[in-house]
Amino acid sequence: MSNNPVKTIAVLTSGGDAPGMNAAVRAVTRVSQTYGLRVLGVRRGYAGLLKDEMSELAPSDVGNIVERGGTFLYTARSQRFMEKEGRQEAAAILRSHDVDALVAIGGDGTFRGALELSKEGINVIAVPATIDLDLACTDYTIGFDTAVNTAMEAIDRIRDTSTAHERISVIEVMGRKAGYIALWTSIACGAEEVLLPETYDYNDRALIDRIKERVAAGKKQHIIVNAEGIGQSESLAARIENATGIQSRATNLGYLQRGGSPTCKDRVYASLMGEKAVDALLAGHRNRAIVHLDGEFKDIDLAEALNMTKEIPENYLALTVNLVRHFHK
Ligand code: ATP
Repeated sequence: MSNNPVKTIAVLTSGGDAPGMNAAVRAVTRVSQTYGLRVLGVRRGYAGLLKDEMSELAPSDVGNIVERGGTFLYTARSQRFMEKEGRQEAAAILRSHDVDALVAIGGDGTFRGALELSKEGINVIAVPATIDLDLACTDYTIGFDTAVNTAMEAIDRIRDTSTAHERISVIEVMGRKAGYIALWTSIACGAEEVLLPETYDYNDRALIDRIKERVAAGKKQHIIVNAEGIGQSESLAARIENATGIQSRATNLGYLQRGGSPTCKDRVYASLMGEKAVDALLAGHRNRAIVHLDGEFKDIDLAEALNMTKEIPENYLALTVNLVRHFHK
């Protein structure tokens, strides 16, 4: 590795925090150090980068973090980085520290920011971390597994009380534009209805008619998983109660879905992605996205990664309906 042009790398976490970000930073740091690279940890994402908030990470600095949610490097959003002048400043700051490459861990916005920064001559490697799974280039994002498991447990608990009281529950889960958390938890929790931003036609009447049909056939409790992007859970619950005469409650799971100790899968996959980021740099690759596709971890061109699109899988959607078609009372 002595002829490798990369000697110093910087790493940051940006956008919404996701459980497993710490495992990724730890892997980037420790794998780099195995190969004699210097690692600088940037605090508070692109906002902190613009304030030159960075310091060298020793292997011990990333000890005791793999099991923690959030990100020990903190995260932030930056309006200044959205402007070209801001990114030019950021590139100059990185150069002043002799940084050869930046590993940016975050979601879609973080990836777009990384691509724009690459146009200022900085070699960037983007690692996908978002609880929403809304990056088209990869079928796994750091944090999703923990978030869906947390939401699933919460929905199971609400179901217990909802069943005991023979109530209807509208449960709002995170996902402004992407319904993956709603989709997965609805299958995992046996929800009677799931409303996804990508597919919901806002036809409340059809939804309420389906519920009334089941109520008429003797079903007393319902779980309706609603994605944040659709929202209005309180008023939906009120309309359902009016139409069915069955007590209906809305619960918004909110930020509890973000935090918490990462699952084993998130710790292991985040570690593998962190390692892959360093491998890509050692192989001399430039401006890449680390992805999990077809069961494999790979690095692909960042611009191409951002041009990819993905759809909610049809078979998952069909399954949400078929699994509850023949309901029990
Ligand atoms: P999450 O999916 O969890 O919200 P994210 O990475 O998408 O995470 P954003 O707030 O969208 O979170 O993006 C993080 C930061 O990346 C922004 O605050 C901004 O500084 C930068 N960024 C986002 N989009 C762009 C863009 N098009 N050009 C330059 N920088 C961008």
